[in-house]
Amino acid sequence: MSPTPIDSHESVPLIAQAQGHGARTAVVAPEGKFSYDDLLTSSAEVAAILLDGASDLAEARVAFLVPAGWTYVVTQWAIWRAGGVAVPLAVSHPPAEIEYTIDDAGATVIVAHPDFESVLAPIAQSRGIPLISTDRITGSSRVALPTVADDRMATILYTSGSTGKPKGVVATHRSIQAQVETLVDAWGWSAGDHILNVLPLHHVHGIINAMACALWSGATCEILPRWNANLVWDRLGSGELTLFMGVPTIYASLIGEWEGMSAERQAALSEGVARLRLMVCGSDALPVATLERWKDISGHTLLERYGMTEIGMALSNPLVGERVPGHVGTPLPGVEVRLVEMSLDEETGEHKHGAPVSPGKAGEIQVRGPSVFREYWGRPDSTREVFDREGWFCSGDVASVEDGQYRIWGRASQDIIITGGENVSAREVEQVLALHPDVERCAVVGIRDPKWGKAVSAAVIARDGAQITRDSLREWARDRLAPYKLPQRVITLDVLPTNAMGKVVKPRLVEMFEAE
Ligand code: AMP
Repeated sequence: MSPTPIDSHESVPLIAQAQGHGARTAVVAPEGKFSYDDLLTSSAEVAAILLDGASDLAEARVAFLVPAGWTYVVTQWAIWRAGGVAVPLAVSHPPAEIEYTIDDAGATVIVAHPDFESVLAPIAQSRGIPLISTDRITGSSRVALPTVADDRMATILYTSGSTGKPKGVVATHRSIQAQVETLVDAWGWSAGDHILNVLPLHHVHGIINAMACALWSGATCEILPRWNANLVWDRLGSGELTLFMGVPTIYASLIGEWEGMSAERQAALSEGVARLRLMVCGSDALPVATLERWKDISGHTLLERYGMTEIGMALSNPLVGERVPGHVGTPLPGVEVRLVEMSLDEETGEHKHGAPVSPGKAGEIQVRGPSVFREYWGRPDSTREVFDREGWFCSGDVASVEDGQYRIWGRASQDIIITGGENVSAREVEQVLALHPDVERCAVVGIRDPKWGKAVSAAVIARDGAQITRDSLREWARDRLAPYKLPQRVITLDVLPTNAMGKVVKPRLVEMFEAE
């Protein structure tokens, strides 16, 4: 790769910041070890290819399907530097979901790692969208890069809402900067940090909390493309890392792996992991039993935080000071949080908002501040629904404050199932299962599960006495839904519990599963 002079008038905040980090190691990945200078050089070269003679991509959406690693980071930065909007596709998603995301975002360019070209080529071809292989995007010459104002769109990340298909959450360069700066400050990031990032890179947790915070700080982001608990333990025990972040399921898996090791390896790894300065957990409720077991093994009291794709992180336990088990701490600097009374409209099943709650009472978490997203892409009605007149974002999560510490109660709506840290829309799974030729009607709920937090669970009414099993339903749905959305539990019923309006009474269905 030939060195390319760097544009000193860089306007994207994260990239401008990187110019001060020069020869420090930015990324360690399967492809090798790369400095900030390498990242600036390569991303400028790839930006030139994306621009293809244009002066500015002017917020064109660039969908990219690249496994977690060096090429992923270069592609993301190149899209930003060319003035485009980064729309990361999930490597775990089947073609139907990838197609949905490309169409919904209105992508006009697709970038693909060679491993995914065969999946993306027919999608790109049928839509007349150029497909660029990451194999062909190095070594171009330098071109002038556009000035990208920080209120321009930076990313569209897809997240499941309560109404069917995933929605695209639009973040600007400015909102990303706010999300990053508050975490860098609150969690004491510095250039001396070295994080192992095992989180998916189509999600806020992996993209912002782990990767962008590291790169903002001049730290090293080591990327592991595939989950492997034994390998993660090797790295945790190596003494080279300072930081690690995971969802509760990740820590549960690491606990399981450690418990199967020899006493000698256990002792060596426990000693190594204790040398990290911070271990963070979030995206789903951390069971106190997991927190305690992890403390026995590693010496760390996990720092639990609360956040969402739409807002970045909002609440966090402290870096220094007591971390209260089962609680998510207090609002991060620069993030306004309030709890508002909610009531359920018996007729419609919709939640109504009222006044801020009295102390100690549970209410909906509402968030305001520069880190909050701009809009759901192409969905003005959905955007309007989640912001109140004073600009508060209504999260749909319920919490209370106990002794000054926030405690999360869960989703107000039962239609979002959080399984292994991933959000699944019950409605979306229902819509897919309903297409099965033997399914007359179905309803999907989340059932408490020791491994996954909640297990996606489907109740189905079979057509004309047909036999539907968990395995046959999963097998059939595999081409249509991401693996974590496939039902873990399936029951067949003669009738679903419904109210007078004919709507499924989900709390009743949950009871039926729990009685099983
Ligand atoms: P996502 O947008 O995929 O990051 O999912 C955000 C959702 O995850 C939130 O709306 C919460 O319901 C849930 N969540 C995030 N952090 C926590 C936490 N510490 N405890 C409980 N739920 C959480």
